[in-house]
Amino acid sequence: MIIIMKPNVSRQEIKAMIERIKKMKLEPHLLRGTERNVIAVVGDERNLQRQPLEIMPGVESVVAVLKPYKLASRESKRERTVVKAGSLSIGGEKLAIIAGPCTVENRSMLLHTAKAIKRLGAGGMRGGAFKPRTSPYAFQGLKNQGLKILAEARRQSGLPIITEVLDPRDVSVVARSADILQIGTRNMQNYELLKAVGQQRKPILLKRGMAAGIDELLMSAEYIMAQGNYQVILCERGIRTFNDYSRNTLDLTVIPALKERTHLPVIVDPSHGTGKRDYVIPMSRAAVAAGADGLLLEVHPHPERAMIDGQQSLSFEEFGELMDDLKKLAPIVGRNM
Ligand code: PEP
Ligand code: MN
Repeated sequence: MIIIMKPNVSRQEIKAMIERIKKMKLEPHLLRGTERNVIAVVGDERNLQRQPLEIMPGVESVVAVLKPYKLASRESKRERTVVKAGSLSIGGEKLAIIAGPCTVENRSMLLHTAKAIKRLGAGGMRGGAFKPRTSPYAFQGLKNQGLKILAEARRQSGLPIITEVLDPRDVSVVARSADILQIGTRNMQNYELLKAVGQQRKPILLKRGMAAGIDELLMSAEYIMAQGNYQVILCERGIRTFNDYSRNTLDLTVIPALKERTHLPVIVDPSHGTGKRDYVIPMSRAAVAAGADGLLLEVHPHPERAMIDGQQSLSFEEFGELMDDLKKLAPIVGRNM
């Protein structure tokens, strides 16, 4: 259920409505818009008495939200959400380009990469400190030391940092160093982790599970938002299909499908989506043409020597070429760089 408030609603009227909803043992979520404020009501709707709410001061209308995801739904919020992290905005007209290595390997490579991608026009930096690996014997990331290096890269470059959190116990330490917390494909349905990142206020980059449908992705976003953190960015990173020529199948159809269903921004990771360096540039262009709000790209100073995912990492030169292409493409699809 959503309660659409009148454009001239007063603070007291909003406050009274929130109190009223709490009294019904339901949870109010105030979604502020530039034109309208909306109060989304979640919980057991049997407790909801619609009529008395409709006649309360400041109310324009009370509408049922049919989708199972309420806060993430476009029915609750027509305006698109723009997620902000430092100097980076995701979901506005400007494309959000986030680049960096799969993992933080050491201080000098990370600082060197930060400087290079900044010069080439990236708006944010990625780099995993806690790595989810298929093999328990593979390098699992530099962990806390990696977080320190990422924080130093931010200080030097000014680029906001995006890094993955794997465990609810690490959320507060990762949130101290990162500007955006990444939930990886393997954890999209780790509900305890989703709740934990929902309870803090740094934005979340939520990757689509490699076998997840669109409603499952949106329900995972809802888990985060239901805790009061509305700053969620969705990320298509490829799904498992019978295709045997790329690591995953990058599902670009999901971009317009998500835009239809949610107000949240959508970005694309063509590095994990294809698993092949030569496919990353064409699929990046395709993602932007299809309406993606940004890209998450693996970029490494020496892809052939990368500890993880070198086969899908762009060199600085290739990243520069892609940025030049995007500068030409962006205005054609109503974006800027
Ligand atoms: C990553 O971004 O490095 C990563 C591990 O991604 P995913 O969860 O999409 O596999
Ligand atoms: Mn990777």
